[in-house]
Amino acid sequence: ATTAQSKAEIIKQKSVKYNLQSWSKQGGLNPIAVEKAEGIYYWDYDGNRYSDMSAQLVNLNLGHGNKEIVEAIKEQADQYCYMGPSFAVESRADLAEMVIGLMPDNFGKVFFTNAGADANENAIKMARMFTGRKKVFSRYRSYHGSTFGAGNLTGEPRRYPLEPGIPGFVKFFDPYLYREQIQFESEQAAAAYYVAKLREQICYEGPDSIAAIVLETITGSNGVIIPPDGYLQGVRKICDEFGIMMICDEVMAGFGRTGKMFAFEHWDIKPDIVTFAKGVTCGYVQLGGVAVSKEIAAYFDDHFLSCGLTYSGHPLACAAGVACVRYYGEHNILENVNKVGKVLGEELEAMKAKHACVGDVRYIGLFAAIELVKDKASREPLVSYGGDPKGVMGKIVGMLKEKRFMTYSHENMVLVCPPLIITEEQIREELAKMDEVLGTVDKEML
Ligand code: PLP
Repeated sequence: ATTAQSKAEIIKQKSVKYNLQSWSKQGGLNPIAVEKAEGIYYWDYDGNRYSDMSAQLVNLNLGHGNKEIVEAIKEQADQYCYMGPSFAVESRADLAEMVIGLMPDNFGKVFFTNAGADANENAIKMARMFTGRKKVFSRYRSYHGSTFGAGNLTGEPRRYPLEPGIPGFVKFFDPYLYREQIQFESEQAAAAYYVAKLREQICYEGPDSIAAIVLETITGSNGVIIPPDGYLQGVRKICDEFGIMMICDEVMAGFGRTGKMFAFEHWDIKPDIVTFAKGVTCGYVQLGGVAVSKEIAAYFDDHFLSCGLTYSGHPLACAAGVACVRYYGEHNILENVNKVGKVLGEELEAMKAKHACVGDVRYIGLFAAIELVKDKASREPLVSYGGDPKGVMGKIVGMLKEKRFMTYSHENMVLVCPPLIITEEQIREELAKMDEVLGTVDKEML
């Protein structure tokens, strides 16, 4: 154990010394050195077991250590590891066919990227080339990636370092009913309101100048905001009316997370472009992609597709993707998401009823957020928007971590997004830890 511990210390020290850590002040970091990982768990070098209740960055949908995926990567590596994007590669062609097979019938082709941000970058480029227009609409409570273009699409504070940003990126408000000033009679009434406001804004921006509306089908890291029924259908109608491309960012919500393969399936709409990443390979090798309609694909038959990446459709990543997509189907993953998701929803509702600090719980499939408040009646958030000077949310996530319940927070929300292979028994065991921590928040932090 002593050697393992000293090994862990060396890894940690080196990591802190040389690795710049995402989204963090670099001082005082204390990362866990992970020795092994299996299913919904991982272990440090001291043998402590942690439960991965965020599925890493909501990407590890099939959990750690999946042998079928690992085997597929090994097989591809034995054949060859890399061929440039212009070559016909079996795993690349197979995965593109599989992805198109999962899309609505208006879809034609896929452009593979390295991850989610560059999927969105390329999606907006394609929409601009296809429509000949420049402006792009996206929402405030959204995260679309941290690179320059995707960062400009992003509406939340992670876009601030890129400001004043690229001209022509226009933001609109999301249907965030819990924090809306207006009380609507029904989901349809709410949807009609937001769609009308969006249409009005589009008219003022000049519909003929707008290439695309980009939306996370279900907003993810900004708090699992599920649109009211009729909203996405309404956006679809606006896009049809004005010839605007509807781009659904399914990077986080896609590949089974919400209980359907893609979140837009909950509302029976057909986007023009879908971006995906995360769950397509579950992090085994990084990959993203842009799926486009047949119409857009055909446009590029005789128009130059001005997009390219050295690692577009990396064979190892595509081999992992083929194995993952196969695994979702063969192991009835959606069935498990819906079965365990029902338990998750019931448990979250119980916590909302029980705890003073829980203002709202939002969930669909295994995609959930708990919104913490100082006061249920006024809905005053536990920490104010864009500021948590006392590190309250960090403390709450820290209390969960002490119980080995590993997740992250955003603003005043805690995300619960475990791997999709989690069992009912496992989720109950984990949520009991959450229940205890929320009890402490009620008592000590309001
Ligand atoms: N889009 C959404 C909805 C995301 O949640 C993320 C990442 O969290 C991205 C895009 C960016 O993906 P990546 O980090 O793979 O570039």
